[in-house]
Amino acid sequence: MKLEESKSDKAPQIVKFETASKSRKEGLVSKRIHSAVSALASSSSPVSETDDFFQDCVKNLSKAFEVKYAFIGVFEDDTKSSIRSLAVSADLKITDNITYDLKGTPCEDCLNHQQVLIQEDVVNQYPEDDMLADMELQSYFGSAIIDSNGNELGLVVILDTERMEKDEWMYPIFALFADRISLELERINRQKDLRLAASVFENSQEGIMLLDTDWRIRKANQAFSKISGWKEKEIIGLPVTKLATKDQTDFSICKISKSLSEQNHWEGEIWSHQKNGGIYPEKRTISAVRDPKTKEIIHYISMSVDISEQKYAEQRINRLARYDQITDLPNRNYFNEKLNEEISNARNKGSDLALMTLDLDGFKLINDMRGHSTGDRLLKLIGERLQYLPLNEIFAARIGGDEFTLLFSFKEKQDKLVPLLKGRAEEIIDLISHPYMLDGEETVITASIGIAIFSKESEDAQNLIKNSDLALYAAKKKGKNCFEYYKPEYSSNVENQFALTNLLRKALTKNQFELHYQAKNKAKSHEVVGYEALIRWKLDDGVLVSPGQFIPVAEDTGMITEIGKWVFEEVINQTQSWLNSGFHFGRVAINISGRQLADDGFVEWVEALINKTKASPEHFELEITESWLIEDPDKSARVLSQLHDLGFKLSIDDFGVAHSSLNYLKCFPVDTIKIDRSFTRDILTSEESMAIVSAIIAIGNNLNLNILAEGIETEEQLKKLEAAGCNEIQGFYFSKPQPVSVLEANHQTTGFNKHQPLRSISA
Ligand code: C2E
Ligand code: MG
Ligand code: MG
Repeated sequence: MKLEESKSDKAPQIVKFETASKSRKEGLVSKRIHSAVSALASSSSPVSETDDFFQDCVKNLSKAFEVKYAFIGVFEDDTKSSIRSLAVSADLKITDNITYDLKGTPCEDCLNHQQVLIQEDVVNQYPEDDMLADMELQSYFGSAIIDSNGNELGLVVILDTERMEKDEWMYPIFALFADRISLELERINRQKDLRLAASVFENSQEGIMLLDTDWRIRKANQAFSKISGWKEKEIIGLPVTKLATKDQTDFSICKISKSLSEQNHWEGEIWSHQKNGGIYPEKRTISAVRDPKTKEIIHYISMSVDISEQKYAEQRINRLARYDQITDLPNRNYFNEKLNEEISNARNKGSDLALMTLDLDGFKLINDMRGHSTGDRLLKLIGERLQYLPLNEIFAARIGGDEFTLLFSFKEKQDKLVPLLKGRAEEIIDLISHPYMLDGEETVITASIGIAIFSKESEDAQNLIKNSDLALYAAKKKGKNCFEYYKPEYSSNVENQFALTNLLRKALTKNQFELHYQAKNKAKSHEVVGYEALIRWKLDDGVLVSPGQFIPVAEDTGMITEIGKWVFEEVINQTQSWLNSGFHFGRVAINISGRQLADDGFVEWVEALINKTKASPEHFELEITESWLIEDPDKSARVLSQLHDLGFKLSIDDFGVAHSSLNYLKCFPVDTIKIDRSFTRDILTSEESMAIVSAIIAIGNNLNLNILAEGIETEEQLKKLEAAGCNEIQGFYFSKPQPVSVLEANHQTTGFNKHQPLRSISA
């Protein structure tokens, strides 16, 4: 052993220990060595408890080295700037533990030099260390505690109030104490780690299993038991594969072993058996644990999380994205997916494919009159009926509102596709038309269907949808509760409409519109009570286009707003001009489209117009179609009340077509009902038509409404209606719609209020 003495006056007089092994000199084993070694042996007794070990150790050190004080300290934290004692002995008694700042202390030097002996005058050598002075210490001997990896853990120190004699045996013996303390500290840390690992294993939320190299379960934690229902003892020794359900491509030991041997890690989703017979999905991670030396795999750790909730949520999201919530039928997204799939099938295999678009007739009325929840329940019941159609080739979907699609995909080409579809369409129409019990009330609804057959040459999904929509539109026009096949002319109508739209846009600026007026007469006296303004579109070549041809297009494109304003202003100008000329015209009726009434600013616009023109609303009547009223009854009632309050009379045009009930009209401030021509036309030949007309007149009279019959062409019709109690008549019998010039010329001769059948004028 070689000791170095510091030469510097200022520097502490320390003795640095270099190699403990060399310090051993034969024959030096004194009594003190003996007692020190036996003390060390006793303190290393495996039965001693952790805390007692250090306490024994400091006492034994004091005894062996015959010093007053001894302590063992470990670093307080990673900065290693202070130590916290594990045990302190003074006069062979255990005292309170201390923390000790290392700066400027002999311990600091001790850590730098591994062992430091200061035989005397330690207080003066370390003036910054108050503790030394307080304890009136003379000598210091310390050794760093270093673990098996060479890391400093702390210090073991002995101190005395007297000079410490230097004996070479002291160094190796002291080093032995330090080594022994280091071993103990490492053991404690290892135990802590083990305890931590065990607590992580037991308290983890993840199911953990320890597997041997044969994939048998050796240990399983509580979380695993909770997830799977298996108690640890029931599965110990079982191959882990037994818990997984069969036929799982993901859970193959071969694949997993490969991944583990290459990357030490495998991760996947598997389905496992639960003890109660159920199965559940889990996300499992398996890691290989290798021997640090041989690098051989010694066992596997399997960690799993139950992902049932996540899977359920995924399924729900998938369902929400693909299924309609009300009917549980596939929704528009899923239908589009399916349609594209079936179209490519039909293209590849040459099999047949057809699309039916089904729309309920008058569903809006049920929705509005009986509330949306009743409407939803009806849709649900209809969905159920469609779902249980005994037709396995049908894919039924609800694509929005009251619109359903039925996709017919056949495995091969059908000999009689058209009659087959006809049969199906009739079956479906029949199926829908059976009564439904809603809120204890029998409810009947019908459906219209458009059918388009896929043709390989010309069609894609969009085309097929468009064609079946056009066919549906045709079915609705035909009178509803029926089906129609798509015909190519429907598309050319659409193309015509497109051309028409472009022309219409220019018509207003080119001043191509004009108004014709048709008289309305009293049924009994035949006296003219007013006129209806009917728009005409005069093309450049003088051809008159009837409103039936362009008003629906104007409504579809929104151009009706501008056209409607022009009509209103024109009627006001015309009537004012008539009033100025002293003409009497009764009331002039203006047709108002639903689209105009739906515009939020319509009423304000009308009010501003009458204020500006000083026109009096009592000279006008506004004709609103029945179908618009039932489209949005709440809004209709509000807007009509506002118009009525302004002083306009209101009539319901084309009454009967939209099948609304007269009672329903009580909700609106209506003055007149105009029975549609489709009913009055047949009153002479069809008892049913007459019965309907009579019923409308009777109930209308009851409700104090004025009843006008439209489209009267013959005297017989007139008489019959008069007898039935109809108040007013409008039709070619009295007068066709006439341009202002003709009307005014006529007025010059007969006067407005006289009955003057047009026939006699034009004859
Ligand atoms: P509407 O309001 O029901 O007008 C009655 C329609 O029946 C008029 O057709 C009229 O010419 C026709 N008519 C009247 N009496 C007879 C008859 O005895 N026999 C036959 N066969 N027909 C008769 P028009 O003028 O072609 O108007 C068609 C529809 O266009 C109107 O039906 C109305 O809904 C709409 N319309 C006309 N002008 C306007 C307008 O300025 N604005 C709006 N929004 N729609 C208008
Ligand atoms: Mg009208
Ligand atoms: Mg009408």
